[in-house]
Formats: sequence, structure tokens, C-alpha cells
Amino acid sequence: MAKPHGGRFITLEGIDGAGKSTHLGFIRDWLQARDIAAEFTREPGGTPLGEQIRSVLLAVDTQVSLEAETLLMFASRQQLLSSLIRPALAAGRWVVSDRFTDSTFAFQGGGRGVPMARIAQLEDWVQQGLQPDLTFLFDVPLEVASQRMAGSRQLDRFEQEKADFHQRVREAYLQRAAADQRFCILDATRSIAQLQQDIAVQLAGLAERD
Ligand code: ADP
Repeated sequence: MAKPHGGRFITLEGIDGAGKSTHLGFIRDWLQARDIAAEFTREPGGTPLGEQIRSVLLAVDTQVSLEAETLLMFASRQQLLSSLIRPALAAGRWVVSDRFTDSTFAFQGGGRGVPMARIAQLEDWVQQGLQPDLTFLFDVPLEVASQRMAGSRQLDRFEQEKADFHQRVREAYLQRAAADQRFCILDATRSIAQLQQDIAVQLAGLAERD
């Protein structure tokens, strides 16, 4: 049986400048046009506590250990899950998040070298088995992403990292995506219009999924 208006959980992932925020707007319009009730959020952040954690984590002068950074990401996530994501899904609403746990595997795991198994332990504890139904991975070469971001605004603590860091993040994303069917890998070097066509097909498929 199709459940066109049952709750669905969608996440957007990729290196900074790949196009996540741009396409979040498209997803919002797509859902609105179909009267599908949805919450839009972001990580780290999305709650009053999470936004405070976000400011600390993104500030360029923050001194934080790898482990503390990872735990703060999950602290923000736990608050978001308990106060927004789980209640929304339980009420049959869709949730669309700009970043979720795949970002922690990619940035703290791939980028910084926190053991993936350690991150997986925290994922189990905080998510209790809850996973996104669909994850869009916006994949672009670093040069394209940094060109897109050039001059847009001051770079945050992660955006300021060197190219090899972002390369490891990209590779970690691709490895995860290859191993899990919930990912839709998008070649984000294509035009916004082309990407939106693919995204719309995926959204329609998700809406029809049991
Ligand atoms: P992210 O949220 O992943 O960091 P953004 O959505 O903010 O990335 O996009 C970064 C910049 O690149 C924006 O100026 C946006 O308009 C532009 N952009 C996004 N996707 C594309 C695309 N497919 N082609 C060309 N420019 C794009």
C-alpha cells in the first residue's frame, strides 16, 4: 500500500559548496506543491541548544579535541532527534535535514581520523536504529565547490580546512554511499535544473514507497 503522506526522513550531504542549501529550497517547494507537511532543519543546529553548539563548533577560534567535536555533534543531534525529528515523523510529517550523521562519518571520521567504529557506537546510542529514508549526496570535485563558495562569505572552521581534508571528506562520503542503498549520489557538477529533475524523481519514488 502506498503511503503518500506518511512521515519520511530525507538528508542532504556533501562537501561545503556542493549545493545542498540550493536544493533544499527546491525540495521545500516540491513538498509544498503536494501539500506534504514537512519540517526543515540543519545540523549541527536545528534547536536552540543545537544552534548554540553550532556557533561554538563553527567559530574559527574554537579550540576543541577531535573527541569533544564528535560528541558535540551527537549532542546537537540527540536534541534534534528528541525535540523535532522523532515527533515530526511520528505525526506523519516529512523531515528534511541539511546534514545528518553521514557528515560526522565524513568530516570527523574521514576528515579528522576519528575511528568510524567509534562514530558508529555513538550513532547506535543516539539514533536507536533510526536512519534517513533517503540521503542525497551532492558530489563535486573540490575545485568546483571552492569556486562556488569563493567570495560568498567568511569561511567557518570546517570550510577553512585545507584541500586534503575536504578530499578525505569527499572520499569518505563516496565510500559510505557505495555501501548503502538509502543514498542517491548526484553528480553536482551538472546544472541546477538537471539536478532538480533527478531530485524530483527520487522524491516521487519516496512518496510512493511503502
Ligand atoms: P552548500 O549548501 O552545499 O554549501 P550551496 O547550496 O550554498 O552549497 O551552493 C554554493 C553556491 O553554488 C551557491 O552560490 C549556489 O548558487 C551555487 N550552486 C549550487 N549548485 C550549483 C550548480 N549545480 N551549478 C552551479 N552553481 C551551483
